[in-house]
Amino acid sequence: MKNADIIIIGAGISGAVLAERYANLGRKVLIIEKRNHIAGNCYDYIDENGILVSKYGAHLFHTNEEDVWKYVNQFSNWYKWEHKVIAQVDGQLVPIPVNITTVNKLFGLELTSEAEMKEWLENNRMPFQKPANGREAALNKVGQVLYEKMFRHYTKKQWDKYPEELDASVLDRIPVRINTDDRYFSDKYQALPEGGYTKLFEGILNHPNIEVVLNTDFFDIRNQLENYEKLFYTGPIDRFFDFMHSMEDKLEYRSINFVSETVDAEYFQENSVVNYPGKDVSFTRIIEYKHFGNQQTDKTTIVKEYTTDEGEPYYPVPNAKNGEIYEKYRKEAEKLTDVYFVGRLANYKYFNMDQAFKNALDLFKSLEPALAEHKVNAIKTVV
Ligand code: UDP
Repeated sequence: MKNADIIIIGAGISGAVLAERYANLGRKVLIIEKRNHIAGNCYDYIDENGILVSKYGAHLFHTNEEDVWKYVNQFSNWYKWEHKVIAQVDGQLVPIPVNITTVNKLFGLELTSEAEMKEWLENNRMPFQKPANGREAALNKVGQVLYEKMFRHYTKKQWDKYPEELDASVLDRIPVRINTDDRYFSDKYQALPEGGYTKLFEGILNHPNIEVVLNTDFFDIRNQLENYEKLFYTGPIDRFFDFMHSMEDKLEYRSINFVSETVDAEYFQENSVVNYPGKDVSFTRIIEYKHFGNQQTDKTTIVKEYTTDEGEPYYPVPNAKNGEIYEKYRKEAEKLTDVYFVGRLANYKYFNMDQAFKNALDLFKSLEPALAEHKVNAIKTVV
């Protein structure tokens, strides 16, 4: 195995950002990637119907972080894309996050103003001062009836846990709107990279100081790696400390089984994502990729998402028990002076994409303060 100053395990967001930052400082960077492609779970490609699809589920970029937005704009053009999600509930398609339209459709009402929606929420929500788990978080926002219809069973399907078995933060990801805004996110910047995420990653990694080795499991070759300055590990933290595994120390992850179908029609559904929060079907949502960027094709590809325990880890499972287990690994990780754990799996955090970018940029800044300052100022602004 070749020598490098910086070794990075994993070519997802965290790995790519650190590679690019160190390469720009003149360091030789070697990325070791287990899969046969870069871009981690953001990987996308053109499928047999000519549609840009994501192999590991739809990725919608949104951020309020100016530095992250500036950073990603260096490597791709981005087009504005305000993501929307609709949910099939009681045979109707309604907006999620819950807004005035959702309540009107599901309860046959004619609320029109923010004041009326506020009043409806006040009469229906179950207040919790400090929601202790996902159930209390959802009840606090929307009350029992919407909780049952839209959150309880979806969460069970997604996590194989009911909301009370998860941290409040999981359900707190979904806001409630007192108006008719039907966007999934409210961040200042909501956009998709032109040509897709794989192309964006090609741009980030396009540097003579970066070498990417695919199809290689770090754990098979770790003994051959020596004389490096730093190693950044972006895989699951417990896998790194495999030797100290016991059954009680097993961190939980959720994976997704993506079942793809070609439909011989121009469109299958009216929106890119339709959630199915009911018990009647076992998938959580159907994604129709051609909606993203309004792609024009004769046929369409749809992907049903079934979450499972088995398979590639995509989601950490945020709850108290996993938090405690993670703490044990974090303490072990702290003892290693030349290894850094970064990203969703290594930090066991349910990061959004922009948080993953920010986390990697911040880590770089904290490790190389003088140099980072210089380079960050040098980033050109393309907004
Ligand atoms: N959720 C739900 N019903 C929905 C959408 C989301 O109950 O229709 C809950 C569910 O627990 C989910 C969480 O809110 O895991 C966060 O949803 P988000 O869309 O942010 O999940 P992701 O897109 O990361 O899978």
